[in-house]
Amino acid sequence: MSLSRFSAVETIQNRMNGEMEDVKAPAKKISDFFGANVFGDAAMKEYLSKDAYKAVKKSIGSGDKLSREDADVVAAAMKKWAMDRGATHYTHWFQPLTGRTAEKHDSFFTLKPGTNEVVEEFSGDALAQQEPDGSSFPGGGLRSTFEARGYTAWDPSSPAFILEVGEGKTLCVPTIFVTYSGESLDYKLPLLKSQSFLEQATIPVCQLFEKKVKRVSATLGWEQEYFLVDEALHNARPDLLMTGRTLLGKHSPKGQQLDDHYFGSIPERVYAFMRDLETECHKLGIPVRTRHNEVGPGQYELAPMFEEVNVAVDHNQLLMDLMDRVARRHKLRVLLHEKPFAGVNGSGKHNNWSMSTDTGTNLLSPGKDPGKNLRFLTFFVNTIQAVYKHADLLRASVASASNDHRLGANEAPPAIISVFIGDTLTKVLDAIENGGEVDALAVEETLDLLSKIPNLEKDNTDRNRTSPFAFTGNKFEIRMVGSTMNCAAPMTVMNTIVGAQLKEFYASVDKLKNEGRSEDEAVLSVLKDYIVESKPVRFEGDGYSEEWEKEAERRGLGNTPKTPDALGAYVSDSSRKLFANSGVFKEQELEAHYEVMCENYILKLQIESRTMGEMVINHVLPAAIGYQTEVAGNVANLKEIGLDESHYSAQIDLIKRISEQMNIINVKVQEMTEARRKANENDHAPDMAKAYCYDVKPLMEEIRVAADRLEYLVDDQVWPLVKYRELMFVR
Ligand code: ADP
Ligand code: MG
Repeated sequence: MSLSRFSAVETIQNRMNGEMEDVKAPAKKISDFFGANVFGDAAMKEYLSKDAYKAVKKSIGSGDKLSREDADVVAAAMKKWAMDRGATHYTHWFQPLTGRTAEKHDSFFTLKPGTNEVVEEFSGDALAQQEPDGSSFPGGGLRSTFEARGYTAWDPSSPAFILEVGEGKTLCVPTIFVTYSGESLDYKLPLLKSQSFLEQATIPVCQLFEKKVKRVSATLGWEQEYFLVDEALHNARPDLLMTGRTLLGKHSPKGQQLDDHYFGSIPERVYAFMRDLETECHKLGIPVRTRHNEVGPGQYELAPMFEEVNVAVDHNQLLMDLMDRVARRHKLRVLLHEKPFAGVNGSGKHNNWSMSTDTGTNLLSPGKDPGKNLRFLTFFVNTIQAVYKHADLLRASVASASNDHRLGANEAPPAIISVFIGDTLTKVLDAIENGGEVDALAVEETLDLLSKIPNLEKDNTDRNRTSPFAFTGNKFEIRMVGSTMNCAAPMTVMNTIVGAQLKEFYASVDKLKNEGRSEDEAVLSVLKDYIVESKPVRFEGDGYSEEWEKEAERRGLGNTPKTPDALGAYVSDSSRKLFANSGVFKEQELEAHYEVMCENYILKLQIESRTMGEMVINHVLPAAIGYQTEVAGNVANLKEIGLDESHYSAQIDLIKRISEQMNIINVKVQEMTEARRKANENDHAPDMAKAYCYDVKPLMEEIRVAADRLEYLVDDQVWPLVKYRELMFVR
């Protein structure tokens, strides 16, 4: 029987000669079907009465609850709209702390109580609240303390949509997921709370510059990186199947050194997948626009236009599900893992974040009007100050077992949070810092200086790809976010820290005004203090360099490359205070979220470590033993025909080297099993996570080195695991 590795490669070769999925978009023009499966503005206008439409819009705008009657009306309209499009089921769609989305499908179809009469039903109650069987979702002890059940509740600020899976169509209602007493068990509720906190904090500051501003929201434009591999190769690797990354595997002699993949031509099968995915996205109103190759072989990127943060987060979650499904149609698998292949560039999810007003202003846009630039400077400097003060929390928000392979693992971006702003803005901030007393004259000089900023958007020279947090023209780009993550976690932190910072800013400005300073003077004076204070977090150099690590330490910046250490920042005194004051997390919620993050880390490592143990024992060692036996047989034969050792010294050497690596694996796998057993004895998740990190993980690394050496030594014809070169270059 041939090895599954070779039949996988053969399958692909046959596939490439044979069928290719062709993709048909519903119409030629995207605008003809964009958002067709979304119960958005157009659908609501069509299916709701004028009054009901107004009530819904008002509720979305203000965050106030819809009345019971209005909810019934909306539910009826939604049902009609969905059934007109062939939907038979509905579900509350939510984002538990596992990181992906969850659904529980119910049918519209029901029998009228006590009769045989068939009706299709969807009431306001069914729209507003559900009780999914939530016992298997992580709750960090919250539900055992309060109430076993979890509830989902409608989030009207994100539109309902129809998900098509095969022939089936389901109406999906975006919801939050909470305990009976309202504690969050998901990513969405804290995000929504952080949104309204940020808005509340931002409006008064906006009004210093523009009285008309009534609403402010954070905006998010994500950029999603991912790898594609053929499903046959994927399924032939237990580690890809179980963990989404290769736990073993010798580097391919050719990796990304040639950079010949980046922006290169997209292979045809991948192109078909992308077109199909984009069509699915467009039907669901996800405004994806760019597609291109990334640095790693088989790596790609997809980015939409930015949207209000809550909708953008939902769209990214939806995208990750769609990618998976569409890839399967093309006999491909999407790897969302941050580091599927050692030695090859990992995947991130850049989060471009800004704030915008209902008057159409991007608050981080330097703008064309120099007079408005003091406003830009205000939001710009306050964001930097917020990041400076809460860098550890921001770091924690992107901490995960899989992202540890990027942050602080000799790869971009580093675990040290620093802010890059480019030459032009550095000059502006330096000038303010060195400008002496802030008085009317200084304000005038600064405004003059600021009038030179509008060129910034065209200034592409000062892009620094090594910075984890970079200002890129009119938004901050947060590059530490992992490719598998729910964007909500870092977005919640951004909204909260900037909100808290703006509150403080407003109070300080107010104080100075009461002391008789003009408003512009007061603003500039407070900003000047922040510029001085937050200076250590600003860094324009190479974020990957060793010198920076040392320099950062001198500056007192945090550097926590390991998730169990980084996560602690969630429950530090300053974070507790921050979240309590902003109302984003209640004390118990914060504890629970922290615990779940630790548990997620543990589970990931547990699965990886077990999978690795099985792979080396069931795949690697047998292959090595088999090959070693063959070589030993050769030695015996040579001996038998009377040759001396000079004729088989190479074979003896090979036999010894194979034994050496097998011995390492044998010993280390037993140590790893023991380390896991001991780690599991910890009562508290944070301690257990640390034990996995410090006691189990290093053993995994040692085992990998030995297994990869065996891959190098053993005959290619008997090596059972799909090799790196096949994973990355066979298409
Ligand atoms: P790149 O960073 O790859 O050079 P762009 O500068 O065009 O590309 O933008 C990258 C991402 O930034 C896009 O996904 C876009 O939606 C997002 N973006 C642009 N403006 C904003 C904004 N005001 N708020 C949030 N995201 C934004
Ligand atoms: Mg980018």
